[in-house]
Amino acid sequence: NLKKHFPIKNKNPFLKSTRSVKAVDGVSFTVNKGETLGLVGESGCGKSSTGRSILKLLEPTEGEVLFKGEDITSFRGEKLRKLRRDMQFIFQDPYASLNPRKTVEQIITEPMKIFGMPKEEQKRKLDRLMDVVGLSSYHKQRYPHQFSGGQRQRIGIARALALDPELIICDEPVSALDVSIQAQVINLLEDLQEEFDLTYIFIAHDLSVINHISDRVAVMYLGEIVEVGEVDELYANPRHPYTKALLSAIPEADPTVEKERIIIQGDLPSPSNPPQGCKFHTRCPLAEEQCKHTRPALRTVSLGGQQAACHLVKEVVEI
Ligand code: SF4
Ligand code: MG
Repeated sequence: NLKKHFPIKNKNPFLKSTRSVKAVDGVSFTVNKGETLGLVGESGCGKSSTGRSILKLLEPTEGEVLFKGEDITSFRGEKLRKLRRDMQFIFQDPYASLNPRKTVEQIITEPMKIFGMPKEEQKRKLDRLMDVVGLSSYHKQRYPHQFSGGQRQRIGIARALALDPELIICDEPVSALDVSIQAQVINLLEDLQEEFDLTYIFIAHDLSVINHISDRVAVMYLGEIVEVGEVDELYANPRHPYTKALLSAIPEADPTVEKERIIIQGDLPSPSNPPQGCKFHTRCPLAEEQCKHTRPALRTVSLGGQQAACHLVKEVVEI
């Protein structure tokens, strides 16, 4: 039930702000060790805020984040510092997330220094990490601007691996890159997952990328998860009207296959004033009267464990 609400500043400084942007509004999901959970949705749906709240880069407003059974939202000081080793973040924009005045060596070894790794070990690890992400350690004295976009994202990945994390949250790690480079970086992330036994939460708005890399997928709309399930089942048989519309927009590779495109009407409502009831009802082609008043809960809708939050999708109960 994770929430991240950003208060909206009141124009009158003497009045307390009562309105807020509900970026993450009661999100619940699980990530299993070793898997990739894809988090997908339109921009502004709360994907990044969810990722940042899990890692406490943003302080969650409400709810719990359980890591190996422990609620980490209350972690402070030394406990939080230790947790930072286990959970890392790869940012969308490798241009903005690397310090331009630091060499690649300084950037990658910085986390090792903070955790007091001996100098010799730092050197060995640096060379090894540059090697595994496909950069020549010959270039370790160079600065970020001397690398291409794809290479810079490799530097960001090496930095994320510096402390042997267990979970990495990848926030749109390839969307700032040329299409030709995207596949290389995604393949690299997949290889590293195998080699280092990593768990990923992979945030993206590109449904093809999500399909390729994820084991399971969670679809977000206006700060909530509307559908979650195994990637193959969810793509083959989306249950929620929003997921259906999203998936219908993926171009079909085979021109002989006719595909009906479902157009979502209207604009994304403001997350500071989301619709009552089902948040999707203002744009849903199937909306009924009850959708305006009653918020649908996420329920199991298939024997494969797929879950959807829609009044019109039948709940499946295992007997
Ligand atoms: Fe559409 Fe109603 Fe289902 Fe919401 S609950 S997705 S408005 S049919
Ligand atoms: Mg984002």
